[in-house]
Amino acid sequence: MADRADRADKANRADKADKVNRADKGGRAKPVRVVFLGGLGEIGRNCACIEVEGRIVVLDCGIMFPDPDMPGIDLVLPEFTYLHERADRVDGIVLTHGHEDHTGGLAYLLRELRAPIYGSELTIGLARHRVEEAGLADRTRFVVVRDGERVRVGACDVEFIPVTHSVPEANALAFHTPQGVILHSGDFKLDLQPVDGRRTDLSRMGELAEREGIRLLLSDSTNAEEPGFTESESSVGLVLRRVFAAEAGKRLIVACFASHMHRVQQIIDAAVANGRKVATLGRSMGKNVELGSRLGIISIPDGVQIDIEDVDDFPPGQVCVISTGSQGEPMSALSLMATGENKWLKIGEDDVVVISAHPIPGNEWSVGQVIDDLHRRGAEVVHSGAERVHVSGHARQGELRTLLSVTKPECFVPVHGEFRHMVHHARLALSMGLDPAKVLLCEDGDAITLDAKGIARDGRVPGGYVYVDGTVGDIEHGVLRDRQKLAEEGVVMVVVTVDRQKRSLANSPVIETRGWVHAPEAEELLGEASEVVGAAVTQALRDGAHDIEVLSRHTRKALGRFVGERTRRRPMIVPVVLMV
Ligand SMILES: [Zn+2]
Ligand SMILES: [Zn+2]
Repeated sequence: MADRADRADKANRADKADKVNRADKGGRAKPVRVVFLGGLGEIGRNCACIEVEGRIVVLDCGIMFPDPDMPGIDLVLPEFTYLHERADRVDGIVLTHGHEDHTGGLAYLLRELRAPIYGSELTIGLARHRVEEAGLADRTRFVVVRDGERVRVGACDVEFIPVTHSVPEANALAFHTPQGVILHSGDFKLDLQPVDGRRTDLSRMGELAEREGIRLLLSDSTNAEEPGFTESESSVGLVLRRVFAAEAGKRLIVACFASHMHRVQQIIDAAVANGRKVATLGRSMGKNVELGSRLGIISIPDGVQIDIEDVDDFPPGQVCVISTGSQGEPMSALSLMATGENKWLKIGEDDVVVISAHPIPGNEWSVGQVIDDLHRRGAEVVHSGAERVHVSGHARQGELRTLLSVTKPECFVPVHGEFRHMVHHARLALSMGLDPAKVLLCEDGDAITLDAKGIARDGRVPGGYVYVDGTVGDIEHGVLRDRQKLAEEGVVMVVVTVDRQKRSLANSPVIETRGWVHAPEAEELLGEASEVVGAAVTQALRDGAHDIEVLSRHTRKALGRFVGERTRRRPMIVPVVLMV
């Protein structure tokens, strides 16, 4: 308590000092620039820069998981060009929470620059894993910040204010700048009964609003289209207990996000209450349960945890397996169970699978497949469509209004969402009486300035998608376009062999196709295509064409036209011209 009072006291004095400083400088205080590198227009790759007098603090650095129209892509990063060019001006990276859409890009950003990373103990624990795995730990320093603490990062103070979310120890960040307070909500909801009792510190936000005024609020838009309030995480615990009790005698397998440690805790509690042992399945689940236990976030009574290798030693009714794969990821533990390829668990009629998560946009189809396959094996599946075994970690309209009403921001920019989410969030702010001139809709790559007058747009910086395929190397837009074309329309290859001496075809062109027409039934069509290409090349040779490039161009054109006219399709055409 003393510690908390002491910190509160320090914060009060700092607030007053801020106010005095700003009053001294009046309207002459340096403007503050905010640059959005990602997360405004999609769920993922959240990254922004707060700039005071040219010095930069990076706010989060996340990845996005690929959409189904990005074949072969492992993940998508923010474009770091802007930061790369200003690497010597970056004073630190501050993290709101440990989710991958906020921390997954660190291992890539640290290749471009060196800077310390600040966050709560768990956030740092999760981030550290990724940076160490990438072998980049020597390019940063990890700084653990406690709840309510205010740390100096470069040219501004950053205050870490607790918020509730679907990963423990999440924070909103208050930047104390020469232009006053910029508050970033982080990902949040207003859970009044959080599993760990750590509520969103609305009173501190209100205090900042009263004492100094919040100049600019940046707030989470994910659920801005949803009316009402998001249910408390603790409501899921009650549902899980009921489901567990109803399935006595059956083996339970519960899938959720490995970082959702409060959910994991509630699964453990429901298992213990029903006399079950608990085993983890999936690499990240094992790692996170260990990390959570070490940090005192997860507690497992002695004798409850068993090894996944030993689950078959227990009757089905005495086992609960906590697994990864709630998003239907192809190589995850749950997907492998569904297809009968999991090393440890064979799914059958004695199993009940609970999917304690909601598919994130783009994953609905894969999750649906997994649910179907589990049914084919005879298992029962309980998912969020049928039972309330999941609640969101993001604020709905009622909570967003509450935050706006407590923080009374002068200026507002919705962040973290697809474009429509941000539009709805902006409307919500306007309906709360904010000045329309001080509410801006921004997108990735937009920059704004905050000065004595308010906020204004301040140009654009590179803010595109950077695709990562495999563990190293970024791939180009062109490669992705090729893959989309291949996936949608297939490919037609033609090999043309030209006798250099005789300046004529050495044999008839050979056509190969995948995904255009099915070859055995289309022999006639392929024969015609070969003749058309042959005629075009022969004509070109007669007209004096002699190099491979020119002949390739004629080949591509003739074949492309034939394919388009005869089938109304546009597969990729790949001409190969050989000179013999
Ligand atoms: Zn999050
Ligand atoms: Zn997020």
